[in-house]
Amino acid sequence: MVQIDTPAQTLATQHHDFAVNSLYGKCMALASNIWWSWHPEVVNIFRDLDPIRWRQLDHNPIALLREFTPERLESRATEMVLYSRINHAFRQLKDYVANGRKTWGATNAGVLGAHPVAYFSAEFGIHESIPIYSGGLGVLSGDHIKSASGLGVPLVAIGLYYNQGYFRQRLDDNGYQVEEYLDTQVENLPCQQVLDAHGNELRISMDTRTGPVMARVWLVNVGRVRLYLLDCDVEGNRPEDRSLTSRLYGGDERTRIRQELVLGVGGVKALKAIGISPGVLHLNEGHSGFAPLEAIREMMEEDGHSFEEALRDVAQKTVFTTHTPVPAGHDRFSADLVEEHLGPLREQLGLSHEDFMDFGRVSPKNHEESFCMTVLGLKMSRRANAVSSLHGHVSRRMWSGLYPWRSEEEIPIGHITNGVHIPSWLAFQMQQLYDRYFPADWMKRMGESEVWQTIHTIEPGELFETHNALKNLMLSFVRRRLSRQSRRRGENDDAVEHARNLLDPSVLTIGFARRFATYKRAGLIMNDLDRLSALVNDPNRPVQFIFSGKAHPKDEPGKELIQQIANLRHDDRFRNRIVFIEDYDINVCRHLIQGVDVWLNNPRRPLEASGTSGQKVVLNGGLNLSVLDGWWAEAYDGTNGFAIGKGSTHVSDEIGDDRDYRYLFDTLERQVVPLYYDHDIDGLPQRWVEMMMNSIGSLAWRFSAHRMVMDYTRAGYVPAAGGLSCDM
Ligand SMILES: *Cc1c(COP(=O)(O)O)cnc(C)c1O
Repeated sequence: MVQIDTPAQTLATQHHDFAVNSLYGKCMALASNIWWSWHPEVVNIFRDLDPIRWRQLDHNPIALLREFTPERLESRATEMVLYSRINHAFRQLKDYVANGRKTWGATNAGVLGAHPVAYFSAEFGIHESIPIYSGGLGVLSGDHIKSASGLGVPLVAIGLYYNQGYFRQRLDDNGYQVEEYLDTQVENLPCQQVLDAHGNELRISMDTRTGPVMARVWLVNVGRVRLYLLDCDVEGNRPEDRSLTSRLYGGDERTRIRQELVLGVGGVKALKAIGISPGVLHLNEGHSGFAPLEAIREMMEEDGHSFEEALRDVAQKTVFTTHTPVPAGHDRFSADLVEEHLGPLREQLGLSHEDFMDFGRVSPKNHEESFCMTVLGLKMSRRANAVSSLHGHVSRRMWSGLYPWRSEEEIPIGHITNGVHIPSWLAFQMQQLYDRYFPADWMKRMGESEVWQTIHTIEPGELFETHNALKNLMLSFVRRRLSRQSRRRGENDDAVEHARNLLDPSVLTIGFARRFATYKRAGLIMNDLDRLSALVNDPNRPVQFIFSGKAHPKDEPGKELIQQIANLRHDDRFRNRIVFIEDYDINVCRHLIQGVDVWLNNPRRPLEASGTSGQKVVLNGGLNLSVLDGWWAEAYDGTNGFAIGKGSTHVSDEIGDDRDYRYLFDTLERQVVPLYYDHDIDGLPQRWVEMMMNSIGSLAWRFSAHRMVMDYTRAGYVPAAGGLSCDM
């Protein structure tokens, strides 16, 4: 068994050159638990140490501290009067990590105490300085484990360590996306290597027909939650396998199934080697669908169960979450790839190749059908869920072929709508405003409706002022980025200076930032450039747009959309009204969602399973303008934001797109713009602020990750672990 270290001991093993109780040691301890990232007062300590390097280093506190000697840190701390702030933060972290007993989880998830939830995900978006995520799925996983930590729900997480992560984006002179992969230095990340009982690197090995694949394991502390990341860059692996986990969603199908072998099978093996015996397996999306197979093998070996008995027991404790509403979006593998990688495990399970393949097929014995990870997930779990109410309907219809004897309503796929980790996305200024009005313990009760009703007691002018202060901060971030982009393109000083003054704080500001997958239709507003120009250049009621987002490296149409939007800067009508920020990540997202007036979301319904960026906007007082898809279909009540269209889906994409375009402009011209510019004599848009309050009061708690994790605990984890049952 492996010794689980406390955060302070963790550091002692990683950086030997300082005493844990020194000032330097305390700072390193803070930097080594991602807990710091959702505590603005701790973030500010790191920033105050060196504001310029802090920004240049992607807000990475370990990289920052490694540039300091303990002596220089002491003198800087004296200069900035940081001693008591550091001591206070260090004590708070220690108390937090030690004190899981008085939490919601201790009361409501006691059954998980000895056997925690094992939460599997291919990506975790925890902070911009840890590049092991690409988009919404990763950020959701990160938010899930942060809320599990906050609530004290016993949970460990398993993912992959990508030393190049996802690509960094820049646009070339033609506005075309260029991808760059940077090597991450693990010394600069809060990763501690997991060792075996002899103090050697813990090694996990997976058999395939073509030889073993090995992985080592890193531990990242996310508050009270331990996140284990498997990394194939180890000596002894073949060269192709040393880079197996270097990139997220890179490579071909073979890379993909090998990564998924490591995540699922390797993940279960790693937990066992570490001495954790999970009571629940939560598969977040099909990527980790192989995990239950290894759990079954273990059970057969240890308890002498038959495959059928072990399958029943493992399925009972497995929760599967599906995120993909399009059939083409689900991982599928050929029989050859499956046999090469799962063949040895299959034999240990005592299954024939065809019987094994059937676990990934909708129609058993259909040799034409490839092996689908979502089908596997559904067959390996007793509890399965989609991520919004509408997505639940779509998923039940999509997988009805798996349950031919059931009507659609009886298909066993429920839904738990996604939510966001409030402390990670709420602006500090807004939090301070809430602190003044909300019940004192509101941060512990973020998932409760009553807490948020207090929003209606806030002075409207104060709420709007706070929002405008945040909008200004966001605009200065955007201008900084725009001038940097201009400088990088090699433009002259005038152009760089001009970029520093783009956009106007008094103008209604609409944000659109997310992956540039075509179904999200980032280009919808550009259907008619004359109408767009009339909208943004209205002399009395102008509008401006901020865009950001990456297209998948292989997504040509997505890249062309980026190009069209970015190149609007060459058109005088749009230069000062529509901008594109390169290299969308958690940092860009946080800045935008904290400062926009309106967040635009116009996917092709019903392809947005949930969407979460709009939920982040709610917390900070921005309003959603969205197609009634994903979370918004169940969130919109007529008073808490704006709807595009009536929540219908046209069978023809072309006609549907055209119709949604007209709905979008009608809503903008007739509702959004007039409401924003309808000021009272004091200059306050009263009805707008009222809508802000309705949005915050009705949505913040419902679409919080705290509410989401409480739902998973009550409807998924506790019953799966053998506790009291409750429906999804
Ligand atoms: C929240 C978030 C997303 C999810 O945005 P959607 O609008 O739900 O697609 C994607 N990327 C990043 C970096 C995020 O922070």
